[in-house]
Amino acid sequence: MIDQSTIDKIFDAAEIVQVVEEFVPLKKRGVNYLGLCPFHNEKTPSFTVSPAKGIYKCFGCGKGGNSVSFIMEHENMSYVEALKYLARKYHIEIEEKEETEEEINKRNQRESLLIVTEFAAKYFKEQLHNSKEGQTVGLSYFKERAFRDDIIEKFQLGYSPMQKDALTKEALKKAFKIEFLTASGLTIKKEDWQIDRFYGRVMFPIHNIAGRVIAFGGRTLSNDKKISKYLNSPESEIYHKSKVLYGIFQAKRDIIKEDKCFLVEGYTDVISFHQAGISNVVASSGTSLTVEQIRLIKRFTPNITILYDGDEAGIKASMRGIDLILAEGLNVKILLFPEGEDPDSFSKKKSSSQLLEFIDNNEEDFIAFKTRILKKDAKNDPVKKSLMIREIVNSIAQIPDKIKRSVFIKECSISMDLKEDMLYSELTKILRRKAEKKLQKHYQSPQDVIAPLKQKSQSNQIQLNKHFVEKELIRLIVKYGETELEVHTEDSDSIKVCIANYIYDEISKEKETYIFEDLTNKRVFEIISNQIETTGIYEQKSLVNYPDKDINSLVASVLSSNYNLSEIWVSKENFVEDEQAKLFELVPETIMAFKKHRVEQLLKETEEKIKLALTDEELVNALTIYQNLKKIDTDLSKKLGFRTIT
Ligand code: ATP
Ligand code: MN
Repeated sequence: MIDQSTIDKIFDAAEIVQVVEEFVPLKKRGVNYLGLCPFHNEKTPSFTVSPAKGIYKCFGCGKGGNSVSFIMEHENMSYVEALKYLARKYHIEIEEKEETEEEINKRNQRESLLIVTEFAAKYFKEQLHNSKEGQTVGLSYFKERAFRDDIIEKFQLGYSPMQKDALTKEALKKAFKIEFLTASGLTIKKEDWQIDRFYGRVMFPIHNIAGRVIAFGGRTLSNDKKISKYLNSPESEIYHKSKVLYGIFQAKRDIIKEDKCFLVEGYTDVISFHQAGISNVVASSGTSLTVEQIRLIKRFTPNITILYDGDEAGIKASMRGIDLILAEGLNVKILLFPEGEDPDSFSKKKSSSQLLEFIDNNEEDFIAFKTRILKKDAKNDPVKKSLMIREIVNSIAQIPDKIKRSVFIKECSISMDLKEDMLYSELTKILRRKAEKKLQKHYQSPQDVIAPLKQKSQSNQIQLNKHFVEKELIRLIVKYGETELEVHTEDSDSIKVCIANYIYDEISKEKETYIFEDLTNKRVFEIISNQIETTGIYEQKSLVNYPDKDINSLVASVLSSNYNLSEIWVSKENFVEDEQAKLFELVPETIMAFKKHRVEQLLKETEEKIKLALTDEELVNALTIYQNLKKIDTDLSKKLGFRTIT
């Protein structure tokens, strides 16, 4: 579809730093650039971009590639979509032949949805500016709200005509398929009629972080109370409400520049702020704030100020948001506007500098905010007062960083005139309760996890116990240690490596974690490790001749033909005759099963430690270990084909 010379042009133009920087703030570090990885959640940057090599690589999660693969991965696009995206960015003309019907059919759902949504955005914009109805109804409404022309342009505002199927008709005429119109939510189709979802509304397109339109909000212009004031696009393959922030595309550069993000409620708040000259602002339109939305902001700044109106609902919304933001390790401030005012109405009454000054003077950190709000309620009632303390400490308990927590405990003790010790004991209680809840949620009993390796058929289900797996691993290393195995490396090259070296590498990397429980097994592994460490190879002969009775007996039984540890494999798929041919599968599986048992054991031990932790520090340490183990455990389960129960 796209010819090779165009592809080459795109690759030449798409400078990796520029491409990545649109989504991830980067800092120069020597010849490379460094940032927070957009593909996994991290606090310290391990995402590296090398302009010289034209690649990115995350040393945390392992993702890596070139400009095009970055866009594919990040924007969830196909190869062709990513090329087109970059072509647009670098103004490279794409030579495309007229698509056949078959090709149109083949285009995937996502791309089709984006295209039809883009078409609608253009249509609404066109209607607003160039149709009589759009001008007299839509545009004059925006003017009435005092939206400036440059702002209307910046947010690509539009108008959806009163005629109930204007858009649908136009789209069908342009050969867009009805299935995509309905899937994107633009058209509502019943058996014998189909209408536009947004007829008779002014339109606010919602852009994703890269600036593509993925959904709409529409405000009615009718005074009819039965018609809902705002309508939003439904969830679709391109629009996941909980992951989107209105205005992020228009705000991202300013959020980085100001190192701060204002969070408001809706479309008009965002737009009014831009108009007042404050551009680092986004809204969680239509939903209450989610963790995903916070993580989106986190990619640009650690500082969020929540701006809501000062009524009940506004206060409630800010309270909910506070704990979520704290739990993501971000700094949060809150500013309530005077009652009856929202950011939109308030900003209209003030000049830009007055607005900034008001924000500066009135934003509070969460302790001051919560204290002020709750104090009003508690007055001198001691019961209410203690509830209030718990409420505030509860917020502090959300903060992952211990040092930060202690700073806030200090502040809390001063502002509420309470002893720090008392607050700490409350904090510890809450942390412990949180830990217990987490355990209940995640803990799996060993019986659940000790399932058969790769359940190929139900009737062959076998319970593999710890004892067995450990013995089996020793058997494999002793018996086949000298045999060569073909191993695929990350670069998908394959190299030959002796089974003994392979197992040794896998286990000794984390010697402390993966220990053998049986003493003789442990010694055998040590002897083999020793051999490898001194000579580079394992020699079965010297193990056979090793001067120790227990070792000799173990080795002998392993090597003797009627030693039949692998009955399990036999019942699975007649292994014995050609066990050797299955080693490439058997060895890694056994290593993983062995690791899994150890991790499970450690999880149990850590769980005990969590239950018995006396100090905050012990608890946090144990929890951290627990979480890391859990990650390893899930990983191993996946590789082994277990189903994890969550
Ligand atoms: P009014 O002119 O009556 O003040 P408005 O358009 O300013 O109307 P408000 O009711 O003040 O709307 O709401 C403020 C913001 O909250 C709006 O910008 C809008 O984005 C958002 N909002 C309100 N209701 C909804 C809704 N049902 N879905 C999504 N967003 C909404
Ligand atoms: Mn309003």
